[in-house]
Amino acid sequence: MIEEVRQSGNFEGALLSASGTVRAAEKIWIGEIDNAFVFTGYGDHHAGSHFFGGGCYFNGAALAIQELRKRFGATRFAVIDTDAHHGDGTWEVFERDLDVLYVCFCPDSNWEKNNKVNIRVPRKVADEKYLGLVNDILPRVKIFQPQILFWNWGYDGTRGDYGDMGLSPDVHILLAKELQMASAEISRGRFIIVLCGGSRRDLARYMIPRVIRVISGEQVLSPSDQG
Ligand SMILES: [Zn+2]
Ligand SMILES: [Zn+2]
Repeated sequence: MIEEVRQSGNFEGALLSASGTVRAAEKIWIGEIDNAFVFTGYGDHHAGSHFFGGGCYFNGAALAIQELRKRFGATRFAVIDTDAHHGDGTWEVFERDLDVLYVCFCPDSNWEKNNKVNIRVPRKVADEKYLGLVNDILPRVKIFQPQILFWNWGYDGTRGDYGDMGLSPDVHILLAKELQMASAEISRGRFIIVLCGGSRRDLARYMIPRVIRVISGEQVLSPSDQG
């Protein structure tokens, strides 16, 4: 698989993207930083243990989890995936791994196995409904007691992007706030955002700085404030 990624022409970007996630997780673990936003070039949730596709090459979150286990003896992890598409790669990597709670929000049916949970999202969904679906799962994530919380954040479900689910740009800022606050209780604030799907630069320019401001602890009063 590594050789195939090499031949794709995107090897370096794929490697830097995944290793950025690994590095951020390590820094959070040793307490050098509180949380992180990983500005990837390529996503990771369609990359499995022996396959890749859909703009994903190496699964950064999965590699980070393996590194935290190997280097620091970390044991429990949670990954919340709000990209518009099903995270088949992450699901496959951890399919039989009970110590990784993976929650994928996508249009596939409600289904779960070995702490891999799929939450069905309507193909077109209102912001409030979407926020409600994510909020509903947070108690379960808390009970699971993960030591670190990963958020595979894709914005491709925003209106006008390639996975359009009808979501507004501002719902992502609200999600960042919710998950940031929840991580204080869920994982002692250890929270890592991995940029996944999304292609529109205007959306990226609007949302990414705001999401970063949220996790840096700055007050982002209303999502539409300041430019
Ligand atoms: Zn996607
Ligand atoms: Zn899914």
